[in-house]
Amino acid sequence: MLIETVEALIMRLLMLSKGQLISYPREAQKLSNITWPGGEVEKPRGWVIATTEKPLIIGFPKRVGFSEFATDLNYNHSAQGYCIDLFDEVRKLVPYEIPFRFEPFGDGLKNPNYDELVRLVADGVFDAAVGDIAITTNRIKLVDFTQPFCATGLVVVAPIVNSTSSGWVFVKPFTLEMWFSFSTLFKANYENPISTLGRIVMVVWLFLLLVITSSYTASLSSILTVQQLSTCITGIDSLISSGLPVGYQEGSFAYSYLKNNLNIHASRLISLGSLEEYESALRRGPKNGGVAAIVDETPYVELFLSTQTDFGILGLPFTRSAWGFAFRKDSPLAGDMSTAILKLTESGQLQKIKKKWFCKSGCSDERGRKPEPKQLNLSSFWALYSLCGTFALMAFFLFLIRAIRQYIRYKSRQMDPSSPTSSISSSILFSQAIHNFLKFIDEKEEAIKKMFAQPAIPPTQARA
Ligand code: GLU
Repeated sequence: MLIETVEALIMRLLMLSKGQLISYPREAQKLSNITWPGGEVEKPRGWVIATTEKPLIIGFPKRVGFSEFATDLNYNHSAQGYCIDLFDEVRKLVPYEIPFRFEPFGDGLKNPNYDELVRLVADGVFDAAVGDIAITTNRIKLVDFTQPFCATGLVVVAPIVNSTSSGWVFVKPFTLEMWFSFSTLFKANYENPISTLGRIVMVVWLFLLLVITSSYTASLSSILTVQQLSTCITGIDSLISSGLPVGYQEGSFAYSYLKNNLNIHASRLISLGSLEEYESALRRGPKNGGVAAIVDETPYVELFLSTQTDFGILGLPFTRSAWGFAFRKDSPLAGDMSTAILKLTESGQLQKIKKKWFCKSGCSDERGRKPEPKQLNLSSFWALYSLCGTFALMAFFLFLIRAIRQYIRYKSRQMDPSSPTSSISSSILFSQAIHNFLKFIDEKEEAIKKMFAQPAIPPTQARA
């Protein structure tokens, strides 16, 4: 049909050049739909992206740790992960077919180097790269990135103290010396000051009590609500100056950033590849071959912290970055994919994909991080309860011992040695003794004291 139309056009042009004007019947001017090379009916944009015979080769990171982001499936040319799902949705929004083939990048033993992946796109080994690829200055010089699909930034992660889980949290607001002086506060002042000078001293003393008590309350509430650091590191600056080992994610741009931009010596940088390695390095700490803190991008850190309560982010992200898909320089696909990414973001589909991968057990906020447990539980007060219990038990046993001793003395005074006891069975005697003892306990201590204060009456006299 296309050939026929082109032929008719040429004929018409020839006739025109000879000065003849041919008029066609109306129905002859009706043109059918154009079918473009490759079987497409939509008008191409003058650029053949790829064909089924020669598909685009799209590289993706074959991740080992944090494989939720992108990794390969165990059969050829297939990938899975958050970034892969996202790419699938994005390409559906591009108004033409993109024949492509996935090609894994990485040996499957450790996370691949992302700078290397980007370089392979620039060198033409891959037509594009799809994954959790950070858009950095060095990379943007080599390839074209799409619009970002995920905002990230480097943060510092370090061990924190979970105050609410410590049973001794209530002693923390004061130092040892303060606790010694604090004991004087409990001395109730029953005597009313008589002189004016006495009253002045009393007012000052009460004011001191007020300030100390409210300071204790304020300090305790800050300990319970504000995240407490367990090391001297408070952020990136103190981490740099500490001279302690710093963890970073294997293959990440974070290594070159820490080394070149923040001038941290390479010997201090320790590569970590998985969530398990993150946890063990932080738990061991710098003294046992671990790290003082880890510097990584927020999505990985949020995933790590969703299962941990002993670690936390110190401060705010100290770099702002984002992830995008990488295409060869001047590839028109980068622009079309960018438009599609924006459409996906605006439709809310992007968030849904994120939730699907990172909120399997529920996310309470948009960033996929569970909130810190701020509730106080029984274990937060176990020490206080134990102290109360111990003192109550001690007091009870002391009281019991004293009461038994008093009862024995009381009985020995009342005892009539001549009264026959052999006819009563021992079990009746025992229950009688218990009954008498309980009755004795019921009596007022004062009455007992009074009784002991009286001189003992010999039993013979009493009988008389
Ligand atoms: N998002 C990091 C980057 O673009 C990669 C993280 C990793 O090393 O696994 O460099």
